[in-house]
Amino acid sequence: MTAQPAQSARQAVQTASRDALHFINGAFTAGTTGQSWVNHCPLDNSVIGLVHEGGKAEIDAAVRAARTALDGEWGRMTVDQRTTMLGAVADEINRRFDEFLEAECLDTGKPMSLARHIDIPRGAANFKMFTDVIKTVSTEFFPTPTPDGAGAINYALRKPKGVIAVISPWNLPLLLMTWKVGPALACGNTVVVKPSEETPLTATLLGEVMNKVGVPKGVYNVVHGLGPNSAGEFLTQHPMVDAITFTGETRTGEAIMKQAAVGVRDVSFELGGKNPALVFADADMDKAIEGTLRSVFANCGQVCLGTERVFVERPIFDEFVRRLKAGAEALTLGRPEDATVNLGPLISQEHRDKVLSYYRKAVEEGATVVTGGGVPDMSDDLKDGAWVQPTIWTGLPDDAACVTEEIFGPCCHIRPFDTEEEAIALANGTPYGLACAVWTENVSRAHRVAARMDVGLCWVNSWFLRDLRTPFGGSKASGIGREGGVHSLEFYTEMTNVCLKL
Ligand code: NAD
Repeated sequence: MTAQPAQSARQAVQTASRDALHFINGAFTAGTTGQSWVNHCPLDNSVIGLVHEGGKAEIDAAVRAARTALDGEWGRMTVDQRTTMLGAVADEINRRFDEFLEAECLDTGKPMSLARHIDIPRGAANFKMFTDVIKTVSTEFFPTPTPDGAGAINYALRKPKGVIAVISPWNLPLLLMTWKVGPALACGNTVVVKPSEETPLTATLLGEVMNKVGVPKGVYNVVHGLGPNSAGEFLTQHPMVDAITFTGETRTGEAIMKQAAVGVRDVSFELGGKNPALVFADADMDKAIEGTLRSVFANCGQVCLGTERVFVERPIFDEFVRRLKAGAEALTLGRPEDATVNLGPLISQEHRDKVLSYYRKAVEEGATVVTGGGVPDMSDDLKDGAWVQPTIWTGLPDDAACVTEEIFGPCCHIRPFDTEEEAIALANGTPYGLACAVWTENVSRAHRVAARMDVGLCWVNSWFLRDLRTPFGGSKASGIGREGGVHSLEFYTEMTNVCLKL
């Protein structure tokens, strides 16, 4: 993706209907760079509108607005006033549910059935959940003995950290962005959001919601742009940003961490994965097939928690492969509004090129293509979209690129194993450590195996079953820190310990 002068981009957009403007200090603006790019819908490559690229001036204006808001009305609000306002944000998202749904499906092409049940409700819930947490969390208190016998009391005060930079990806745009903005604001911080260049619409729409419910200007800001040498990099480099929360690729996390080192700013990173599923011979086969179909193919495989490596105990290997293939071949690709559709396109032509390059590489590396491996036949109106076939491979060596590298598409490799020990070693044999799914009806084995998984999240006989109070995040190259429930407070607040001698 490259931005170009807005004038020439505009010529390409003859019927631009949904331009994405920055939202800075409570006002929408195209900014001053004169650069923009055309936002394409991945369903059919049709034009959605222009996205204006923010530069250093827009980032500076947004960060300064966020800093000023901290010292203004927002900073003076009681927790009750602040959380009531965030509850109103959630209610307003729900009131405009269909607008958010339409915008999200336009940007991503994902099925409305999915966005209706996950993306948009979670986008609203992220504001309500953390208001409950912040209102009920208690503080540490220690009565401390002193030599004179009078003692002292120690207690910790939680304060907002300041201006938080939120940098988000395109796969679950509203959900993942509000997963950061919700707790950041509940804790009294202000934010500058840099949404993914692929999915600018719902973050922009949220600006309207903030104004409608009366969130003070400068509390929530959005600057559109790309990553390197653009709004993303400028935001993380800005000296008045106090902390950076980022969701995206591990490689990008490395670049941002270098930028965060200047001024020693805190980071929270939710990064990539190459997640395993372990299917034992004692698993309930129906549940394991249904769950693995979801974990491999949901959101067209573009879920950080998704499964790309499936390990199946040898006695049930052939049956499992046969049934997963049948399930994959029964998936329906098509338009978001069609209720029978399970799979949309990939996010962009560029991402499709990447996924298809892995499809070719799998064959070169010796895979047996169980199903898929190419581009589906779509109807004429969708033939220019970023479609790929749901794909399953077997027979790849353990060091094959398709087994070791995150693809982020609707595909998986299935490999047999013979012992529990071997399965654990295979599952952990990756630099990543985000999530896994274990399928077994043996309760002792479930606990035993879960305890040995080098991951942040281990599901047993389920996948993507989320309780927002639980710690969420990855180990190894999949992230730094945990968010969710009280764990978010560790990142979004600064603590001052008060020691009072009695
Ligand atoms: P990405 O890393 O390419 O981009 C994410 C964001 O970072 C975008 O807004 C981008 O503009 C910005 N960015 C890029 N370079 C930057 C830089 N140098 N400085 C500042 N910002 C920069 O990721 P993506 O392709 O949008 O998303 C897919 C990736 O996200 C996958 O690897 C997936 O596993 C990961 N992901 C992880 C989680 C999780 O919870 N662990 C959740 C969703 C997605």
